[in-house]
Amino acid sequence: MAGSVTEADILAIGQSLLQSARQSKPALYRGVSGQILERCLNDAPLRAALFRFIDVLPQLKGSAAQAGHLAAYIEESGSSGLLPGLMKLAARPSLSWLATLQVKHMAQNFLVEESPHAMAAMLKALAAVPANITLDAVGEAVLTDAEADAYRDRVLWQLAQDWQGQVPHLSIKLTALAPAFDPLDAAGTKKRVYSRLLPIIEAACVRNATLTVDMEHHELKDQIVALFFDMVADFKDMRWQPAIALQAYLPETGDDIRRALNSAQRNGRKIGVRLVKGAYWDQEQAWSQERGWPMPCFRDKAATDAHYEKLAAELLARSDVLLPAIAGHNPRSLAVAIAHARHHGLRTGQWEVQMLYGMAEPLRNALAQQKVPLRIYVPAGDLLAGMAYLIRRLLENTASTSILRQTWLDASSDDALLKAPEVPTPKAPEQSPPATLPLSDFSRSDIRNDFAKALAAASGALHSNDRTDDPALHLSRNPHQPSWVLGRTRMTPLSKINVVIESARKAQQEWHKKGTAVRVRHLLALADQIEAERHHFAALQVLEAGKPWREADADVAEAIDFLHYYSTQMLYLAGAHTTTNFPGEHNHYRYRPRGVAVVIAPWNFPLAILTGMTAAALVTGNAALMKPALPGLLSAQALRAAMDKVDIPTALCPLLVGGVELGQALVAHPQVDVIAFTGSRAVGLDILRAAHTPYAEQAHLKQVVCEMGGKNAIIVDADADLDEAVLGILASAFGYSGQKCSACSRVIAVESIAEKLQERLIAAAQTLRWGNPADPSFDHGPLINEAAQKKALDYIAIGQTEARLLWQGSVPDSGCYSPPTIFTDVKPEHRIAREEVFGPVLALMTAPDFASAITMANDSDYALTGGVYSRLPQHLELAQREYRVGNLYLNRRITGARVGVQPFGGIALSGTGIQVGGPDYLKQFMWMQSVSQNVMRKGFVPDV
Ligand code: NAD
Repeated sequence: MAGSVTEADILAIGQSLLQSARQSKPALYRGVSGQILERCLNDAPLRAALFRFIDVLPQLKGSAAQAGHLAAYIEESGSSGLLPGLMKLAARPSLSWLATLQVKHMAQNFLVEESPHAMAAMLKALAAVPANITLDAVGEAVLTDAEADAYRDRVLWQLAQDWQGQVPHLSIKLTALAPAFDPLDAAGTKKRVYSRLLPIIEAACVRNATLTVDMEHHELKDQIVALFFDMVADFKDMRWQPAIALQAYLPETGDDIRRALNSAQRNGRKIGVRLVKGAYWDQEQAWSQERGWPMPCFRDKAATDAHYEKLAAELLARSDVLLPAIAGHNPRSLAVAIAHARHHGLRTGQWEVQMLYGMAEPLRNALAQQKVPLRIYVPAGDLLAGMAYLIRRLLENTASTSILRQTWLDASSDDALLKAPEVPTPKAPEQSPPATLPLSDFSRSDIRNDFAKALAAASGALHSNDRTDDPALHLSRNPHQPSWVLGRTRMTPLSKINVVIESARKAQQEWHKKGTAVRVRHLLALADQIEAERHHFAALQVLEAGKPWREADADVAEAIDFLHYYSTQMLYLAGAHTTTNFPGEHNHYRYRPRGVAVVIAPWNFPLAILTGMTAAALVTGNAALMKPALPGLLSAQALRAAMDKVDIPTALCPLLVGGVELGQALVAHPQVDVIAFTGSRAVGLDILRAAHTPYAEQAHLKQVVCEMGGKNAIIVDADADLDEAVLGILASAFGYSGQKCSACSRVIAVESIAEKLQERLIAAAQTLRWGNPADPSFDHGPLINEAAQKKALDYIAIGQTEARLLWQGSVPDSGCYSPPTIFTDVKPEHRIAREEVFGPVLALMTAPDFASAITMANDSDYALTGGVYSRLPQHLELAQREYRVGNLYLNRRITGARVGVQPFGGIALSGTGIQVGGPDYLKQFMWMQSVSQNVMRKGFVPDV
């Protein structure tokens, strides 16, 4: 404990606070909604049902929809008893207004409507406490420029109000000022944020207002903090007061406080710091697990509490340059802060406690009685649009670790509530190892710098100035700047194929003899080798395949995942597997390699797909002849170079360079046993035909592993969360410029939501930037080559004759770009609704209801991926039963399958239904031999 604040001081303050605070209950826990909440405390499924209802409510039109959802959620929760019974009763169209009313009532507890009248009433009520306020314009996620403009205007409106003698004090979210808020584009983000911040700062100066920058998710923290310090340095006018919220659940917050101190000293002005515990713990935990990134927060609640106390003491000791605001509702934590403030003799204006509107009012009043300077954080906005905020507050009030619950509902003693946090000795992290290789976290500047370095090195190295005009050379080009020849490679002459296959067959026998364990070791070594050079591999894709940084990084991670996953799978499959043994008969089976595999890969995942198919062939004991698509050749060459480093022999796994002719010759070759193909439907069908037409000298059937294209649809239901649907659709349709087999090229919206969806989709699409993928300020890059560009442009022309052009974005004039395009009024029979474009062209269709939307989605030759945005359990179930696609995604984007987590592949004319990165895949590269041995000898059964 710093200075002479003692534990006894803290306990004395805490006890007196609790004594008066516990005289009455907070408003939230009173009345009907209070009883509902109390009942939900110990019934987690019922609590989830209630939150799901609150979450969907703003989107529901009409009492039937409201009743239907409420009933479905309670039903799914499986809860029974009086309250669920009553809630079920209310779940009828004639009574659903009751449920809606209760939710509104709960919302009113935490939110104030944005009107002069409501604001005046709230200010008056709080002045009586007495407490000042800070206003927050609460709302939905900002996805479009218009929404960011609207947010700016709301902030300006708040600044212009009558504050009844108070100096205006606002809390703002920087992410709401710019729809594209991306750490990979720090400079662009800053420009966009500043353009809307400028009028806000000007207005703040006029009124001497304070602007506190709220903190959000950890992924954006460094960027928000950096922007805040830029603001302090750039807007020097002393009439506005800068402040920032920092989170005690992050171990690194002490460093950010020191940066605030430095900034205050450098700029000769005070900086406000609001210390909060942090509101995104659950999400941070879920995301870190899903992404395989380290958990950024303390895992232990007591560790956060102890850190908070330490940081509060630090802040309060520096009121010479900082304006500490200690935010929270925990009597112990607040007692610590008060003790330190008293110790330093701080007065009103030098520090304050901040609390949320509608939370812990009895504690608030107790603080006021003790003359603690108070400020209430008041979210203002539309009651229904503020539902996400409401849920956060309700979670906070009902969680078992909630201090409010412990203070007023559970019978926790004063001693227990005021006990100093006991931090357990840190254990090894509980996080299980990630299922797949974590993607690079580009919010980290060290990773951004390493990637930029690798890209600069590759750009410098890849220049071929040779002018020889030899048709036997393949020229690798940069699709953003096609005149840039990245490399020249001699094609493999068809005359060499016989020799190559002959030596592959010999090498295969050696390879097979080595056994599974040795083969697995080679593959894992290859995975390590690629991982060691992951940025170099990704840089090649940025330059050759036109992939933006994140997409390129994800492809490399997937390649590594395939090597790990298939290695593990092979360890299960290797050896003899007993079926049923009888005393006189032993039965088992084992898998054996087929022989020589040809791997024919596409260019769009130039490393991952080639590596995946090759790894499958090799680990199962085959030879693998790699024939990548020419536009992805540099990645294939880098893969072969990495194989050299881990002793995977060239004879066993040669790289053959060529296009259609070479592919055809390999497919037709009588000595080939397996063809592993991923590519377009036309080529896939040709290969199947050719492979199954045996030559006279061919005494076996060829096995064809075949993954083809898609015409994938996302269905948007009437109750969909549009924030999420819009982001999911844009990521799925325009990610890598639509050049993914899993890309969304059809959106089928249920009629009642279609118009609203279209509006938001276009507005959000407008914020995406297209340009050189090497420059991370662009979201999307070019198409792979001129042929792909022409194909996409042709389809746009076709679309214009069939449907209505709704929106088209702009792209650079030079390079292989095709503008992102959205058509509407598309009918199921239109070509743009049926044929794979493989570019950023999206067809919007409408369906009268959800069931017809599924029928429309299924009306396709393809059946690869499909998505549904809906919040009605029955519809999600219907989709699982009726939506016929290999990969079904519910309430998320439809691209980005992870190896082993979402095995990937289609049916119909998209594929064979045996999925890549799934448990059945490897078996296609082997044949099964079943051995049955009679061990009985003349009536004698040996004991073996
Ligand atoms: P593509 O079919 O044109 O070429 C794929 C590969 O086949 C290339 O290596 C090519 O040289 C070779 N090839 C072409 N004609 C051949 C022939 N007649 N015989 C043998 N080989 C031949 O496809 P692409 O343009 O490289 O890739 C895009 C296509 O791949 C899209 O249709 C996409 O949907 C599909 N794709 C599917 C998946 C999946 O997992 N289902 C994944 C990625 C891409």
